[in-house]
Amino acid sequence: MEEPCEVHMRNLIIIGASGLLGSELIKLFPDAIYTYNSTEIKNKNAYRLDITDQESLIFSLKKFDIRDIIFTSALTDVDKCEIYPDLAYKINADPFKYITKYLKRINGRLIQISTDYVFSGEQGNYSEEDLREPINVYGRSKKEAEDIILDSGIEYAIIRTSGIFGINRATGKTNFFLWIYNNLKENKEIYLVRDQYYSPTLNSILARAIREIYDREISGIIHFSSLDKISRLNFGYIVADIFGFDKNLIKETEMKDMKWKAKRPKDSSLNNEKAKRLLNEKPVSVIDEIKLIRGFLNGKD
Ligand code: NDP
Repeated sequence: MEEPCEVHMRNLIIIGASGLLGSELIKLFPDAIYTYNSTEIKNKNAYRLDITDQESLIFSLKKFDIRDIIFTSALTDVDKCEIYPDLAYKINADPFKYITKYLKRINGRLIQISTDYVFSGEQGNYSEEDLREPINVYGRSKKEAEDIILDSGIEYAIIRTSGIFGINRATGKTNFFLWIYNNLKENKEIYLVRDQYYSPTLNSILARAIREIYDREISGIIHFSSLDKISRLNFGYIVADIFGFDKNLIKETEMKDMKWKAKRPKDSSLNNEKAKRLLNEKPVSVIDEIKLIRGFLNGKD
């Protein structure tokens, strides 16, 4: 980590603030310390940190006298995880070995973002207590992170979510919504999978839920996504519908025809009953998420 020019008195660090979710968290936690790795954040509270570098990681936590950590960093490219399993574990699981030790010593707190991919996808509508049986390296590495946290005895919230999307590019890449939106806007044909179901989650709504979980010091595992179980194909139809794009541009395909390196769960949709009961920030439907995005984009144009 680069040497900071001043010592911050704040004690919350958001690790992975340059990501799709992290970039929304920055807006809601203006006083935190932020870290990025390869995608520079232009902010006076932002520092470069490679979480695979154990020494730098612990140095940074000590340097800023960190008490609370919101950890969103991950190798989220599911196929890349399958090709480079060592790297997947190094980024997605190993840092928690050191972080939990640090937090235990100072009685600190961790909010970790986990995934619907810890489930096999055979059942769908997964609740917090359901059996985790990941079917790819990404899911297994995220499950290992959960296990390290669960065994550590620290104060934690593990927030499992599904298919994060937003209007912003992050870490130099597009996301599923933006890819559909940009292609349909330019009248380009796209192929969407009709037999893979999940609960797509708008990054800004998830960020607000995290803010509430942080403020109210809610602990335990909590699922937070959209309320729906929806296929990639139907997600595309909703985008087309709400933005008035030509639906005929959307062509159907199936999981078996995708040239993926890693297996995907067939139905990793999440059950949000706990979040609905506990939080003031309620999960919403995919239609409401996309309408919200339409509002953002109209405001932008
Ligand atoms: P992104 O892929 O958008 O961002 C990943 C973040 O991790 C970036 O800030 C990136 O930094 C950082 N990162 C990657 N490698 C390193 C490293 N070696 N050292 C430090 N930082 C690193 O992820 P999302 O915002 O989409 O995901 C946030 C969390 O939610 C993740 O934990 C993910 O597992 C989980 N999740 C994501 C889902 C999704 O659909 N995206 C679905 C379910 C859960 P930089 O870009 O600067 O290199």
